[in-house]
Amino acid sequence: MDTIALANYLFPNVTTTPEELEARFPERNAPEGAVITRMAPSPTGFVHLGNLVQGLISERMAHQSGGVLFLRVEDTDAKREVPGAVEVLISTLKHYGIRFDEGVTVDGEAGDYGPYRQRQRADIYHVYAKKLVEQGDAYPCFCTEEELTRMRELQEARKVNFGYYGEYAIWRDRPFEDVKAAVEAGKPWVLRFRSTGSVENKFKFTDLVKGVLNVTENDVDQVLLKSDGIPTYHFAHAVDDHLMRTTHVVRGDEWLPSLPFHLQLFRALGFKLPKYVHIGPLMKMDGTSKRKLSKRKDPELALTYYKAEGFPVSAVYEYIMTLLNSNYEDWRKANPAAPSDEFKFSYKKLNPAGALFDYAKLCDVSKNEIARMDAETVYALALEYAEEFDPDFAAVLKRDPGYAKAIFAIGRGGKKPRKDLATWKDVKPYMGFFYDEYFVSEGFPEGFDRAVIRAALEKYLAVCDPADDASAWFDKVKAITAEIGFAADMKEYKTNPDAFPGSVADVSTFLRVAVTGKTNSPDLYTVMHLLGSERSVGRIRKAIEDLK
Ligand code: GLU
Repeated sequence: MDTIALANYLFPNVTTTPEELEARFPERNAPEGAVITRMAPSPTGFVHLGNLVQGLISERMAHQSGGVLFLRVEDTDAKREVPGAVEVLISTLKHYGIRFDEGVTVDGEAGDYGPYRQRQRADIYHVYAKKLVEQGDAYPCFCTEEELTRMRELQEARKVNFGYYGEYAIWRDRPFEDVKAAVEAGKPWVLRFRSTGSVENKFKFTDLVKGVLNVTENDVDQVLLKSDGIPTYHFAHAVDDHLMRTTHVVRGDEWLPSLPFHLQLFRALGFKLPKYVHIGPLMKMDGTSKRKLSKRKDPELALTYYKAEGFPVSAVYEYIMTLLNSNYEDWRKANPAAPSDEFKFSYKKLNPAGALFDYAKLCDVSKNEIARMDAETVYALALEYAEEFDPDFAAVLKRDPGYAKAIFAIGRGGKKPRKDLATWKDVKPYMGFFYDEYFVSEGFPEGFDRAVIRAALEKYLAVCDPADDASAWFDKVKAITAEIGFAADMKEYKTNPDAFPGSVADVSTFLRVAVTGKTNSPDLYTVMHLLGSERSVGRIRKAIEDLK
């Protein structure tokens, strides 16, 4: 077969040579050890936690090494494309601190290695497709859908591997005349790779996360170009990652089965192989077994979920870092105020089987994260959330920013800050009682005589004085406790609980429920102080009425 003639026949308009492309996209002038990597999403409109995980790993690997992170849009499947998906992806990732140095941007493209949208690179792919045909490494296949279906059925009946290989690869060795006749008859064709691999052979391959893999050779003549001339992912990624001078391909391990084919492609194209970093999927516990997070079953897979739930962006970031590198948490404890990129991220610590997503742990990380913020920041972020998801509450927060910030300041700072908030959604239930319109009472705890509760509250009203400091105030609470026959001294109460109907803690709870409506609240003295004497007294009076 005259493969040069075949190549010219199939690609008459391709005049550019691979050498010209090599010259147009030269090796990058990057420092030794710099990682050049990319995110290469398909614009389907759904941005999920996996994107963020992959983005974060890529971003850290690139920027920590003085390298480059670029965004390439893999839009070869026009059917799956959702308008605006790229913009959503870019802005979402940016929101989470993932910054691209080049590639597709909201207003176009930046960088010297473009175009960065695959559909605009057809000419480039065709140069290499032609080269492969010239070398005898690729050939056109005119099989119809029906023929391919029949092939599959036959393979099923014979219980052999599926795919276009061996005797099933009916266009592999057809003479040039047959190709011409088929083209002239207007039959559509795809370009296939001519594999010389055998499933009998295995070889070793080292992936940076998975370690040494025992890989079986590929014997299937896979499709390189579809009948519309658009490449498959396999072919496109080989050409793109080579010409964009990618040093590390960080991608999901669902691509591992295609790796043997990709290795063949790089070899046939004469490209230097990048390093591969195949990351496991995000897993979660389902009962006692682990499973992959699923788009259908798990709302927490979508990134929009975290925004709607009110997790601070920085908390999601922190959580993912703890998921990826188990030593991140200790580092954070030792460096509470350090910017996260001072942490030395290592792909070597990634779990090859995939990270285990744990909602409770996320909440924990988020509580710590919010506890590290100052009241100003908490106010600003809680307000931003409320403006989008609870405008009435936002209006309340804005009515008196100083008051709201003073509330947020309770228990903040210091060695052991309060950790009441995991999400911005928690803010209203946590502090709503500070505003009359949101005040509701959970009711007094069971097991106490209502007349006794009332007596305690009445006694409190008789002695309370807004000028009291915290210790004078507490002395009064203890005095009331003793007067109603409860234990004012906790130690004494603990050694002999049966001797008393209750303790000073219970009396505090009576007051707390009267004032906040809840059995749990931040420091009661501070709360009353902020609410102001008039409002606190008013609420206690109202509680006394209700107890009658
Ligand atoms: N478009 C592919 C995907 O979304 C990219 C895989 C890769 O990063 O190479 O899965």
